[in-house]
Amino acid sequence: TDTLTVSELAKKLTKEPSEIIKKLMFLGVMATINQELDKESIELIAGDYGVEVEEEIIIDETEFEAYENADKEEDLQTRPPVVTIMGHVDHGKTTLLDSIRNTKVTASEAGGITQHIGAYQIEDKGKKITFLDTPGHAAFTTMRARGAQVTDITILVVAADDGVMPQTVEAINHAKAAEVPIIVAVNKMDKESANPDRVMQELTEHGLIPEDWGGDTIFVSVSALKGDGIDDLIEMIQLVSEVEELKANPNRAAQGTVIEAELDKGRGSVATLLVQNGTLNVGDPIVVGNTFGRVRAMVNDLGRRVKTAGPSTPVEITGLNEVPQAGDQFMVFVDEKKARQIGEARSKKQQEAQRKESSKLNLEDLFNQI
Ligand code: GDP
Ligand code: MG
Repeated sequence: TDTLTVSELAKKLTKEPSEIIKKLMFLGVMATINQELDKESIELIAGDYGVEVEEEIIIDETEFEAYENADKEEDLQTRPPVVTIMGHVDHGKTTLLDSIRNTKVTASEAGGITQHIGAYQIEDKGKKITFLDTPGHAAFTTMRARGAQVTDITILVVAADDGVMPQTVEAINHAKAAEVPIIVAVNKMDKESANPDRVMQELTEHGLIPEDWGGDTIFVSVSALKGDGIDDLIEMIQLVSEVEELKANPNRAAQGTVIEAELDKGRGSVATLLVQNGTLNVGDPIVVGNTFGRVRAMVNDLGRRVKTAGPSTPVEITGLNEVPQAGDQFMVFVDEKKARQIGEARSKKQQEAQRKESSKLNLEDLFNQI
């Protein structure tokens, strides 16, 4: 519904609730701090501060907020973990991603042409794991800057012949800030100069203490190049995933985050979406950041056309009117008219933001949480 409480409205206007209550009283409305205000009152108050309120925008925000709280415990089901790989340059992130993907492609999928869509899924003992193969740092910085949290578990790759380096420390800080559990993959163990003890020693100084040394950080020795230790690593990911109790409701309209997006000459706007809740279907009316449309076609990480995508699944979609940005949130609306309305309101809002950068208090400030 398109209402706000007095305190919510006060927050958006960066005013004291008492001031809003006084103004309401002046307008003949007796309100308490938690009282829901109707559209008319919101418009009156906002107008008094020189702020214009657009109906679509209010629907937009409350809709997105309502979404967060809508799932009942009994509707939730276990979902696959979403894993990112971080570490210093040349420590073996790309090699590890390739190695995991190659070892775990199932027989039935072996013929499939793997396709780069920014993420892929493997299956191990009937359980799926999603890996983002955008550079881990970018996944954290650009996405988190846009308020998106997509990673459940992070693999910190440290080359055993090189040890902890500046980007290793940066990665640890990102993961800690996001409160994402870290599994350490001590890589390049096949090298003669490998010194895993040194890696453990150095990481201890950054608060990552191996279980063997009385800490609670999982360390796995691997050689991404030779494929050694990959099974152990996958087992540990499954273990951590179970502890985290990751859940979603597959029986609802989809919601999630843009992993990558680009303009394709032939297909138009192409976006890789990570479904974080619900199930995405071909034909769904969808709002993606400031863009909107209908899901025209979906392709999975094996380059196959699919009709549905459940929680933690990455899919590449076409059908959006423009190209969204990595980190943008997306949401499916059952009502296509609403999707269009919200999409248009958002894109108008963005255009206005660019125009009225200098004006002090406007729509952008009022609804900057969207
Ligand atoms: P990234 O920058 O972290 O993505 O690192 P890459 O995966 O591109 O690897 C950098 C270099 O290290 C490449 O030449 C890889 O072949 C090599 N490399 C990666 N993993 C291993 C490993 O386990 N053993 C050895 N000997 N070399 C590796
Ligand atoms: Mg790389």
